[in-house]
Amino acid sequence: MSADPARWHSSTSSGGNRMEFKNFSLYINQTKVNRFAGELAAGKLMSTLCKKCGRQYYPPQADCPSCMGSEMEWKELKAEGKLVTFTRIYVPPEHFAVRQPLMPFSSVQFEPCPIGLIRVEKGLTIMGWIPKVDIKKIRIGMKMKASPFTLPDGKITIVLEPI
Ligand SMILES: [Zn+2]
Repeated sequence: MSADPARWHSSTSSGGNRMEFKNFSLYINQTKVNRFAGELAAGKLMSTLCKKCGRQYYPPQADCPSCMGSEMEWKELKAEGKLVTFTRIYVPPEHFAVRQPLMPFSSVQFEPCPIGLIRVEKGLTIMGWIPKVDIKKIRIGMKMKASPFTLPDGKITIVLEPI
Protein backbone atom coordinates (compact mmCIF):
# COMPACT_ATOMS: atom_id res chain seq x y z
CA MET A 1 0.00 0.00 0.00
CA SER A 2 3.01 2.28 0.27
CA ALA A 3 2.76 3.25 -3.39
CA ASP A 4 -0.87 4.27 -3.18
CA PRO A 5 -1.13 7.09 -5.75
CA ALA A 6 -3.33 9.21 -3.51
CA ARG A 7 -0.78 9.18 -0.73
CA TRP A 8 2.00 9.88 -3.20
CA HIS A 9 0.18 12.89 -4.50
CA SER A 10 -0.65 14.43 -1.15
CA SER A 11 2.88 14.06 0.21
CA THR A 12 4.79 15.41 -2.77
CA SER A 13 2.51 17.76 -4.65
CA SER A 14 2.53 21.48 -4.14
CA GLY A 15 -1.10 21.54 -5.24
CA GLY A 16 -4.17 22.69 -3.42
CA ASN A 17 -4.59 19.66 -1.16
CA ARG A 18 -2.00 20.78 1.30
CA MET A 19 -4.00 23.69 2.66
CA GLU A 20 -6.71 21.37 3.87
CA PHE A 21 -4.20 19.70 6.18
CA LYS A 22 -2.95 22.96 7.62
CA ASN A 23 -4.48 22.55 11.05
CA PHE A 24 -3.79 18.85 11.42
CA SER A 25 -0.71 16.89 12.34
CA LEU A 26 -0.60 15.51 8.82
CA TYR A 27 0.70 18.89 7.72
CA ILE A 28 3.69 18.43 10.00
CA ASN A 29 4.29 14.95 8.65
CA GLN A 30 4.40 16.30 5.12
CA THR A 31 7.00 18.89 5.97
CA LYS A 32 9.10 16.15 7.57
CA VAL A 33 9.43 14.36 4.24
CA ASN A 34 10.41 17.46 2.25
CA ARG A 35 13.91 16.00 2.05
CA PHE A 36 12.53 13.53 -0.51
CA ALA A 37 12.23 16.28 -3.17
CA GLY A 38 15.74 17.58 -2.50
CA GLU A 39 17.23 14.11 -2.81
CA LEU A 40 15.29 13.55 -6.04
CA ALA A 41 16.83 16.71 -7.47
CA ALA A 42 20.24 15.23 -6.60
CA GLY A 43 19.33 12.05 -8.47
CA LYS A 44 18.46 9.84 -5.51
CA LEU A 45 15.28 7.92 -4.78
CA MET A 46 14.98 7.78 -1.02
CA SER A 47 12.93 5.63 1.31
CA THR A 48 12.51 5.78 5.06
CA LEU A 49 13.18 2.86 7.39
CA CYS A 50 11.55 2.56 10.81
CA LYS A 51 14.24 2.10 13.44
CA LYS A 52 11.77 0.44 15.80
CA CYS A 53 10.09 -2.24 13.65
CA GLY A 54 12.25 -2.29 10.53
CA ARG A 55 9.53 -1.54 7.99
CA GLN A 56 10.64 0.43 4.97
CA TYR A 57 8.55 2.99 3.10
CA TYR A 58 8.44 4.43 -0.38
CA PRO A 59 7.35 7.16 -0.85
CA PRO A 60 9.03 8.07 2.46
CA GLN A 61 6.85 8.22 5.55
CA ALA A 62 7.80 10.54 8.40
CA ASP A 63 6.12 8.30 10.97
CA CYS A 64 5.61 4.54 10.87
CA PRO A 65 1.96 3.61 10.20
CA SER A 66 2.75 0.08 11.39
CA CYS A 67 4.12 0.65 14.91
CA MET A 68 3.48 4.42 15.27
CA GLY A 69 7.20 5.02 15.80
CA SER A 70 8.70 8.34 14.70
CA GLU A 71 12.36 7.42 14.52
CA MET A 72 12.94 6.97 10.84
CA GLU A 73 16.19 6.54 8.99
CA TRP A 74 16.64 7.74 5.39
CA LYS A 75 17.89 5.11 2.96
CA GLU A 76 18.59 5.32 -0.75
CA LEU A 77 16.67 2.74 -2.79
CA LYS A 78 18.24 0.47 -5.35
CA ALA A 79 15.60 1.51 -7.85
CA GLU A 80 15.64 -1.50 -10.16
CA GLY A 81 13.04 -4.20 -10.53
CA LYS A 82 10.39 -5.83 -12.64
CA LEU A 83 7.42 -4.04 -14.12
CA VAL A 84 4.29 -4.99 -12.17
CA THR A 85 1.70 -3.08 -14.17
CA PHE A 86 1.30 -0.17 -16.56
CA THR A 87 -1.34 1.96 -18.16
CA ARG A 88 -1.74 5.12 -20.17
CA ILE A 89 -2.66 8.42 -18.59
CA TYR A 90 -5.12 10.52 -20.56
CA VAL A 91 -5.65 13.32 -18.03
CA PRO A 92 -2.50 15.07 -16.77
CA PRO A 93 -1.94 15.14 -12.99
CA GLU A 94 -3.05 18.43 -11.46
CA HIS A 95 0.37 20.03 -11.05
CA PHE A 96 1.27 19.30 -14.66
CA ALA A 97 -2.02 20.67 -15.88
CA VAL A 98 -1.62 24.03 -14.16
CA ARG A 99 1.43 25.35 -16.00
CA GLN A 100 1.68 23.00 -18.90
CA PRO A 101 -1.36 21.93 -20.91
CA LEU A 102 0.62 19.07 -22.44
CA MET A 103 1.16 15.67 -20.94
CA PRO A 104 4.74 15.25 -19.75
CA PHE A 105 6.91 13.74 -22.49
CA SER A 106 4.31 14.44 -25.17
CA SER A 107 4.61 17.00 -27.91
CA VAL A 108 0.96 16.81 -28.91
CA GLN A 109 -1.90 17.76 -26.65
CA PHE A 110 -3.94 14.76 -25.47
CA GLU A 111 -1.24 12.32 -26.53
CA PRO A 112 -1.17 9.81 -23.68
CA CYS A 113 2.07 8.70 -22.07
CA PRO A 114 2.51 5.26 -20.49
CA ILE A 115 3.00 5.10 -16.74
CA GLY A 116 4.06 2.03 -14.79
CA LEU A 117 4.92 0.50 -11.46
CA ILE A 118 8.06 -1.52 -10.72
CA ARG A 119 8.65 -3.70 -7.68
CA VAL A 120 12.06 -3.12 -6.08
CA GLU A 121 13.80 -4.27 -2.88
CA LYS A 122 11.69 -5.09 0.19
CA GLY A 123 8.64 -5.42 -2.05
CA LEU A 124 8.38 -1.64 -2.42
CA THR A 125 6.91 -0.23 -5.62
CA ILE A 126 7.94 2.85 -7.57
CA MET A 127 5.65 4.58 -10.03
CA GLY A 128 7.05 6.43 -13.03
CA TRP A 129 6.45 7.61 -16.57
CA ILE A 130 7.65 5.36 -19.42
CA PRO A 131 8.41 7.92 -22.14
CA LYS A 132 11.00 6.02 -24.17
CA VAL A 133 9.28 2.72 -24.88
CA ASP A 134 6.47 2.17 -27.39
CA ILE A 135 3.47 1.00 -25.38
CA LYS A 136 3.13 -2.02 -27.67
CA LYS A 137 6.59 -3.15 -26.57
CA ILE A 138 6.01 -2.78 -22.84
CA ARG A 139 5.67 -6.14 -21.08
CA ILE A 140 4.77 -7.02 -17.51
CA GLY A 141 7.88 -8.47 -15.87
CA MET A 142 10.43 -6.55 -17.94
CA LYS A 143 13.41 -5.29 -15.92
CA MET A 144 13.44 -1.55 -15.49
CA LYS A 145 15.12 1.12 -13.43
CA ALA A 146 13.57 4.26 -11.99
CA SER A 147 15.37 7.60 -12.08
CA PRO A 148 14.46 11.19 -11.26
CA PHE A 149 13.94 13.38 -14.33
CA THR A 150 13.72 17.15 -14.51
CA LEU A 151 11.01 18.47 -16.83
CA PRO A 152 11.48 21.67 -18.88
CA ASP A 153 9.53 23.69 -16.29
CA GLY A 154 11.94 22.59 -13.54
CA LYS A 155 9.60 20.12 -11.86
CA ILE A 156 11.03 16.75 -11.03
CA THR A 157 9.30 13.53 -11.90
CA ILE A 158 10.29 9.87 -12.14
CA VAL A 159 10.87 7.89 -15.31
CA LEU A 160 11.20 4.14 -15.85
CA GLU A 161 13.59 2.75 -18.45
CA PRO A 162 14.37 -0.83 -19.49
CA ILE A 163 17.73 -2.20 -18.32
ZN1 LIG B 1 7.66 0.89 12.76
